[in-house]
Amino acid sequence: MNDISELNDSNTPISLFKENVKMFVNKRNWIKYHTPKNLVQAINCEAGELSQLLLFKDYRKEDIWNDKKLLTNISDEIADVFIYLISLINLLDLDLSQAFEKKMEKNNKKYNTKEFNNGIYYKK
Ligand SMILES: [Mg+2]
Repeated sequence: MNDISELNDSNTPISLFKENVKMFVNKRNWIKYHTPKNLVQAINCEAGELSQLLLFKDYRKEDIWNDKKLLTNISDEIADVFIYLISLINLLDLDLSQAFEKKMEKNNKKYNTKEFNNGIYYKK
């Protein structure tokens, strides 16, 4: 993997994440535990950890950015969700870019801007 300090969202292909997670899992012989059910549950557990950080709090973005420990914890939990999601994508041999493109096309039709705009539903 590239030096982590070199990575950012503009220069990192999804294939790099997929390969890195695959190597991490294989080196530890964890693939036997990575069933679809276990990975979906792991995604939910990590999403729960992310949710717990905000439970009964109503932070604004500025509050989070001014609390470096909270920002780090939120970033870590988002990464945990993403890592398990990538592992599930690897297991199922999915192409995330194709899945994204197809689903966004469905979302654009389902939530077209003539009917859905600024939180208001205009369909009669
Ligand atoms: Mg976690």
